[in-house]
Amino acid sequence: MSLSKQVLLKDPTNTLHRQFKNDEFWQKIPAWSSVTRAEFGDHKWQIKNTLVKIDQIQKVLGPRLSDSFYRDMLGGQKITPMNIRITPYVFALINWDNPIDDPLRKQFLPIASQSLPDHPFHMEDSLSEDVDSPVPTLTHRYPDKVLFLPTTICPVYCNYCTRSRIIGGSTESVEKDTYGANQTKWDAVFDYIKKNPTIEDVVISGGDAYMLTAKQLTYIAESLLAIPHVRRMRFATKGIAIFPQKILTDDEWVNAVIAMVKKARAMGKQAVIHTHFSSPIEITEWSRLAMERLYFEGVLVRNQAVLQAGVNDSVEEMVLLTRQLSFMNIQPYYIYMHDMVPGCEHLRTTLRTGVSLEKAVRGTTAGFNTPTFVCDLPGGGGKRHVASYEYYDEENGISVWTAPNVKPGKVFTYFDPIHCLNKDAQARWGEEKTRQEMVQSAKKRSGH
Ligand SMILES: *Cc1c(COP(=O)(O)O)cnc(C)c1O
Ligand code: SF4
Repeated sequence: MSLSKQVLLKDPTNTLHRQFKNDEFWQKIPAWSSVTRAEFGDHKWQIKNTLVKIDQIQKVLGPRLSDSFYRDMLGGQKITPMNIRITPYVFALINWDNPIDDPLRKQFLPIASQSLPDHPFHMEDSLSEDVDSPVPTLTHRYPDKVLFLPTTICPVYCNYCTRSRIIGGSTESVEKDTYGANQTKWDAVFDYIKKNPTIEDVVISGGDAYMLTAKQLTYIAESLLAIPHVRRMRFATKGIAIFPQKILTDDEWVNAVIAMVKKARAMGKQAVIHTHFSSPIEITEWSRLAMERLYFEGVLVRNQAVLQAGVNDSVEEMVLLTRQLSFMNIQPYYIYMHDMVPGCEHLRTTLRTGVSLEKAVRGTTAGFNTPTFVCDLPGGGGKRHVASYEYYDEENGISVWTAPNVKPGKVFTYFDPIHCLNKDAQARWGEEKTRQEMVQSAKKRSGH
């Protein structure tokens, strides 16, 4: 960010959130220097030119990619649990003059030099989604709502994905049992929901709803709407953030979304979209136009993002993100503490960072547009407000939590990244026995 922008952002009355990037930014990518606005705005062009290999990145950037950064990306591929997949739109928004510090590059293109060893208590299925799963592709943790994962593919792959164990294809470091959209598996899910009348709310995630065809989306929506006790559905997609062109030009898909929303409304039910903008850098005039289309059609969109070091962990950027989303009629819903999954220790922040940002953001805009900062507890305790821990040993980075409505009687722990602790605490974490003692001691002091 430029210095003048940083100074402006500190003024609480600034109106930067009303400005939307609208230049031909993609033409700075050597291979796309003559791509027109109409071509770049076509969802088919975006899909055709989506990048899935380092070699392709090297080709489109040509002389703008240094040898050392190229090697750093190759090194990143040996460690990351996620495949590469980046839409040209996101790729062109990366500042290729300084890719090391770029928030978008950090999310989609890991480099070896920034990688850190995983936390000793990290887990592949950190949220215990597979444990709380009564039928394949469904997680039932809360009394009245379920999480349905109909597909494991996405229009982009985020290297910090909480479901890196199943999303995208296998990588150099992880073998995955991925599955495509499979209607027979879905029917078992609908059956389960039918038989459990307490379920009112279905989250359709993945994977990403952008990758469902219009037909599949309609099939899922109609199957769920036909169940009398289902009142609310949310389709999760990062698409609006990283590929707004689809909303503007893929009429068949958008019309399926609009039809589903209208049908739900006519039945007195709710169908909405949850999207995933992480930082203001991802917002452009394309985002504004995509949201304008959805808003005029009565499609409600909410946002959930993950708090990440060097991506959105400053007060100024978090406030700008919140205001800019609100301006586009996207309701900021959640900011998550980073899950303790493999390959993203460098992106995690301390719990204190989450609590401080929550304090700083609250009061800057309408309460209904103020995101709730939550920690989704490792081990399946569900989402808790960041400041509602039972005990926080900040020096050793250990917080203790309970989840009375989800897992009564059970005690949960979340851990700050070790590299953020002082040297003495880091040394304590180096010893297996001391580690266990510190956790036991924190639990004891919490009174649980
Ligand atoms: C997040 C989540 C939900 C939805 O929770 P909300 O707090 O209503 O957004 C439902 N089921 C599972 C398993 C989840 O992880
Ligand atoms: S879009 Fe969502 S599900 Fe897909 S890789 Fe990113 S975080 Fe994971």
